[in-house]
Amino acid sequence: MSELTNRHQTGLPQNLEERFAARAAGMQASEIRSLFAVASRPEIVSLAGGMPNLSALPMEMMASVVHELIATNGAEALQYGSGQGHPKLREQICEVMALEGIRANPDDVIVTTGSQQALDLISRIFIDPGDVVLVEAPSYVGALGTFRQYEAQVVHVSLDDKGLIPEALRQAISAVRASGRKIKFLYLIPNYQNPTGVLLSADRRSEILDICREEQIFVVEDNPYGLLGFDRPSPNAMRAEDSENVIYLGSFSKTIASGLRVGWALVPQSLKEKLVIASESSILCPSNFTQMTISSYLANQPWRDQIASFCKVYKIRRDAMLEALEESFPASATWTKPGGGFYVWVNLPPEVDTKLMMPKAIAAKVAYVPGTAFYADGFGSWAMRLSFCHPTPERIREGVKALGHVVNEEIARRGSGYELK
Ligand code: PMP
Repeated sequence: MSELTNRHQTGLPQNLEERFAARAAGMQASEIRSLFAVASRPEIVSLAGGMPNLSALPMEMMASVVHELIATNGAEALQYGSGQGHPKLREQICEVMALEGIRANPDDVIVTTGSQQALDLISRIFIDPGDVVLVEAPSYVGALGTFRQYEAQVVHVSLDDKGLIPEALRQAISAVRASGRKIKFLYLIPNYQNPTGVLLSADRRSEILDICREEQIFVVEDNPYGLLGFDRPSPNAMRAEDSENVIYLGSFSKTIASGLRVGWALVPQSLKEKLVIASESSILCPSNFTQMTISSYLANQPWRDQIASFCKVYKIRRDAMLEALEESFPASATWTKPGGGFYVWVNLPPEVDTKLMMPKAIAAKVAYVPGTAFYADGFGSWAMRLSFCHPTPERIREGVKALGHVVNEEIARRGSGYELK
């Protein structure tokens, strides 16, 4: 068969790679995306994806909110709206942020299609190819993918059980500057971080803000999990302490429903216009329908109680996961003990490669995300992220137990001499 016929039959245009813009080379499916197909098979316990658990959301109540909205205000809800976002919702978003100490003006809020879109907009207005973005080590895979698409160089900064380490941040800034590169912003997730579940301490929040102000580096504070603390509220948002240098990102994905795709950015006034223009060019305006659904839900339903119900659902699952890890994982493994959010980060002995181990885990009917997904530089091969948000506690126990066997066997096979459990 000639090459031409072959190409014709596979449906791929010729020289496709050359016809793409250079930046398309950075557009690669994340490790999580390629895992989803496998992990969503019903027999697999998926500790991989971070899908919010909607079992605590009363669907009849949501149905009546939507019905009422269309019946009474359908003409507005189904129409185009403001590029910056619905004015009433922007006011309500300020009330939500007040729970974390933020005093904001609705005029500085830009509603986005999930906070993921806000990440894209910020990247678009700040990043030239080769610019540096500082992120935690490890960091959120969806943000890394966006930064890569804009051809940023991602530099990871160490974190420990109190979050990003200020001294490591100072060192990273000096090293990058010494190499002549520009740092565009520091991206961090202070509350129940994705992927580690770590909470950034209040002291460090202040110190990091001081460093970034002095060095004239914007802080992008991504906070989808802040209201999902199980035992106590999280410390005030960093934006509460600094309204000039922090770009704050919020989302209703984890506190109401991710399918509505409503998030927001609260930005220093000087950045607002650029962000709104960038957003208009990609989506014209956020969906009036989903914004007004959220707005009427916030106005008429006990949303604080609903968040408390979500927290109960997640706390039970977190406990199940931590107990199961204790029972089934070897003594040579360590893991984080998150006080909220969705994720536990597990470190295994360095000779274990969690990406290579994945087929064995799938054969044992359990899925996780290998640690390398959360690094831009191939680091993290001995680690994994386990999500406790979605499966039932029984399934979590079952999955962690099966994974414990796989890990123990892997360690024994590699002859590391670590004890079996
Ligand atoms: N930031 C972080 C840290 C996340 O974990 C997620 C979703 N998993 C997002 C942003 C994007 O959320 P959304 O677009 O649904 O608001």
